[in-house]
Amino acid sequence: MRVLVVGGGIAGSALALALHRAGLDDVVVAESRPSFDDAGGAFLTLAPNGVNALDAIGHGDVPEAAGGFELSGIDFHNARGRKIAELAGDDDLARYGARSVVLRRARLHGELARRAQQTGTPFLFGAHLGAVHEHPDGVEAVFTDGRTIRADAIVGADGVWSAVRRLTWPDAATPAYTGIVDCGGWATVDLPDSARQQMHFGHRAFFGHAVKDLVAYWFTNVPRADEPARAELDGLDQPSWMATIRKLHAQDPAPVRAVLDAADASVGAWPIYDLPELATWSTRTTCLIGDAAHAVSPSSGQGASLAIEDAAVLAGLLRDAPTPAAAFEGFVRERKSHAEKVVRFGRQIGDRKVASTTRSLFRDLTLGFFLRMGAKAAAEQYGYRVPALPDRPHPARSEAEGA
Ligand SMILES: Cc1cc2nc3c(=O)[nH]c(=O)nc-3n(C[C@H](O)[C@H](O)[C@H](O)COP(=O)(O)OP(=O)(O)OC[C@H]3O[C@@H](n4cnc5c(N)ncnc54)[C@H](O)[C@@H]3O)c2cc1C
Repeated sequence: MRVLVVGGGIAGSALALALHRAGLDDVVVAESRPSFDDAGGAFLTLAPNGVNALDAIGHGDVPEAAGGFELSGIDFHNARGRKIAELAGDDDLARYGARSVVLRRARLHGELARRAQQTGTPFLFGAHLGAVHEHPDGVEAVFTDGRTIRADAIVGADGVWSAVRRLTWPDAATPAYTGIVDCGGWATVDLPDSARQQMHFGHRAFFGHAVKDLVAYWFTNVPRADEPARAELDGLDQPSWMATIRKLHAQDPAPVRAVLDAADASVGAWPIYDLPELATWSTRTTCLIGDAAHAVSPSSGQGASLAIEDAAVLAGLLRDAPTPAAAFEGFVRERKSHAEKVVRFGRQIGDRKVASTTRSLFRDLTLGFFLRMGAKAAAEQYGYRVPALPDRPHPARSEAEGA
C-alpha cells in the first residue's frame, strides 16, 4: 500500500515512524516548508499519554534525546501571587507510567523528523498541495509546482490550516480566532528548578513558566480582540514587543516580572485558533490526523500528545485493515469523540484564562471546583493508552536478510 502523508510536522513525522515500524514501507511525506532548518516554535508539553504513545511506536527515548525535562503537576497563583490551587502530578509515573515533559518544539520535531528520514522515508520539501483527485483505484495529489503523486491513501497531517481538509471538504468550517495571541520563549534566570509548572492569573494576562538548569521557559496569553495579520507577528520588533509584554505584567507578582526582565525576546507570537468539530475526518482514500482534524488550544497541553496518539493508532489500522477505507473508518471510530472531548476541555481552560478583573474574585473562588473537574479530565487524557505497535519485519529488510 502506498501512503502519501501531507505535512511533516509532529503528526506527520510520527506517522512516518509508526508506518515504518508497522511494515508499510511505501510512504512519502510532502512538506510545504523548504526545510526544517529554522527554529519552528517555542516549547510545548508532552503529557504522559503522549510519552506513552511514543513508547508504543518504539521511540520512547525521544523526550530525553530531544532535551526534555519532567514536571509533576501545576501550581496556580492569583494576581497577588497567592497559590490558589494545584494539580498534583507527584504520582503520575505510578498512575500512568510516565510524567509530563517540557520540550522545545523544534527539538522534539527535529528528532522525530530526523528519525523518520533515517528509516529511508522520503520527505519532499517545498511541496504545496494544490488539488486532490480521487480515482476508482486510489488518489492523486497535485502540487502547485506541477509534481503529482499517486497513492492508495492520503493522510492530511498538515496542521490547523490543512490544505487536505480544505480541498477534500470545501464546505467544512474554518478555524476561528480566539482573541488570544500566544507568545513565549526562554531566558536565563537565577531561580531554582521548578518541580511543577507555575501558572499565574495576572492582572491583565495569563502567564506560565517553569525553570530548569537556570533557564526559564515562559509563555503569556496576550488578549487581543482583533485578529492580527500573520505579517504583523512575523515582523515583530522584539524590543517594543517585549516592552508591551512587560507592561502587561507590570503589576504581577515577582516571579513573573523576574522572568520577563531576563527575557530579551519571544521566540514567536501565534494567534490561537479554534477549529469547530468536523462532520467527519475521512473519505475512502483520505484521512486527517493531528491539528488538521482536531486543533486543540495550547492551554490543554495535549496538541502534540494527541497527534502522536493518532499516528500510532492509524499506523496499526493501516497495517491490519483490508483497505485504507476500512482503516480510516476504524480510526474515526477510535479517535474522534475522544479527541473532540479533549478539544472542548482545552477551550474551557482557554476561556478561563482570558484576563478579566471583574471576574477574578469569582474565578479564584471557583477555581478549586474547576480543577477537580480538570483533574478528572486529565486522568482520562493521561490514562489513554494506544496499543503497542509490534516491530514488523519489513519486506525489503527480510529479503536482504534472507539473501
Ligand atoms: C512552525 C510551528 C511552530 C509551532 N510552535 C508551537 C509551540 O511553540 N507550542 C505549541 O504548543 N505548539 C506549537 N506548534 C503547534 C504544534 O506543533 C501542534 O499543535 C501539534 O504538535 C500537532 O502537530 P501537527 O503535526 O498536527 O501540526 P503541526 O505541528 O502544525 O505540523 C503541520 C505540518 O504541516 C506542514 N504543512 C502545512 N500546510 C501544508 C501543506 N499545504 N502541504 C504540506 N505541508 C503542510 C507544516 O509546515 C507543518 O510542518 C507549532 C507548529 C508549527 C508548524
